[in-house]
Amino acid sequence: MTDMLPEQALSAPATSALPQEISTPETATAVATPTALPEGFVRMGLAPELVQAVHDLGYTQPTPVQEKVIPVAMGTDHEQDRYIDLMVSSQTGSGKTAAFLLPVLHTLMQQQAQQQARERAEYERQCAEAAAKGETTPKRNRRKDPTNPRNFKAATPGALILCPTRELAQQVAHDAIDLVRHCKGLRVANVVGGMPYQLQIAKLQNANLVVATPGRLLDLQRSMQLKLDQVQFLVVDEADRMLDLGFARELDELFCALPKKRQTLLFSATFSDAIRAMAKELLRNPLSIEVSPRNAAAKSVKQWLIPVDKKRKAELFLHLLAQQRWGQVLVFAKTRKGVDALVEELLAEGVSADAIHGDKPQPARLRALERFKAGEVRVLVATDVAARGLD
Ligand code: AMP
Repeated sequence: MTDMLPEQALSAPATSALPQEISTPETATAVATPTALPEGFVRMGLAPELVQAVHDLGYTQPTPVQEKVIPVAMGTDHEQDRYIDLMVSSQTGSGKTAAFLLPVLHTLMQQQAQQQARERAEYERQCAEAAAKGETTPKRNRRKDPTNPRNFKAATPGALILCPTRELAQQVAHDAIDLVRHCKGLRVANVVGGMPYQLQIAKLQNANLVVATPGRLLDLQRSMQLKLDQVQFLVVDEADRMLDLGFARELDELFCALPKKRQTLLFSATFSDAIRAMAKELLRNPLSIEVSPRNAAAKSVKQWLIPVDKKRKAELFLHLLAQQRWGQVLVFAKTRKGVDALVEELLAEGVSADAIHGDKPQPARLRALERFKAGEVRVLVATDVAARGLD
């Protein structure tokens, strides 16, 4: 994992024509489908570029949440002529990220293709007009170099995904980048705290899809580096965590800056009264989708509960570490203080350990993860909130 995520603007073959009309999944199945492609995703009517990316990732069939969400999210409410809002109960590990990314990317691609067709038609009209008058062919508008700071302008993404933690936002942005690898000109940007502002602003240029944590996004929006008035798709991921972390005020401010006409997908593991109240404000005639949680623990995972005096938890942990000869251990603690205290105790006992929690700067969090993944650290201790999105 690196400090920053690259934006993505990968090329698809020039022949990859997209349907010009927005179609419901039922009408969009006229796509050439080599047999090796994952049939379940093809049947949904997803753009061939996205099906190919899913195939590259080794997904052979949609997960239950994908099966339920993708076709509905891609379809319109015919009476109201708008995409359908969804409230989805889903757990981490269910495949929920692709469940919201795929329909959003699909629709962004279709809209981009329509926009390009309109621009092409307008240019051809101007050429015809010039020819009729015996004038020279008009020049096409030259694209300005978006990497030159002189050309920086406020980003106006078409889709916004809000995540409660930096780690989750980075994970989601990584997944989005994997999924747009065959899509021409679709750019993904990641907006999280702990990244230098100038670099973030540079990375936001021309972004179509922004994956963000609320705090930094609001900073950029307030300083006019980013405008939210073109957002047509809003996804709130892990909404329950968002409220647990006290983002309610930031979210309200952000929601006020969004256009009323948009599609909103709200994902949450639980639906408390507070989440329902948020959904009432945010969603219009939402469809509720519930997916029974996948068995949370694999059969190979043994679970047991040990009642212990609060003050002796670290001691017990050290005892188990030695007795069970655990190689690498991931420990979740409730508070940041608890995380630091355990790490300190482990280090004092000569056990290599590192911490992940919200008080740590982002590079330090990523470094801790890297060291754990590389096997340099035996015990990684995290608050459960900071650990969200670890995959
Ligand atoms: P998520 O619930 O979005 O965090 O996804 C959990 C994991 O499942 C991620 O590593 C995804 O890459 C993977 N995944 C998502 N969809 C599929 C699928 N249809 N088939 C296999 N793996 C998947």
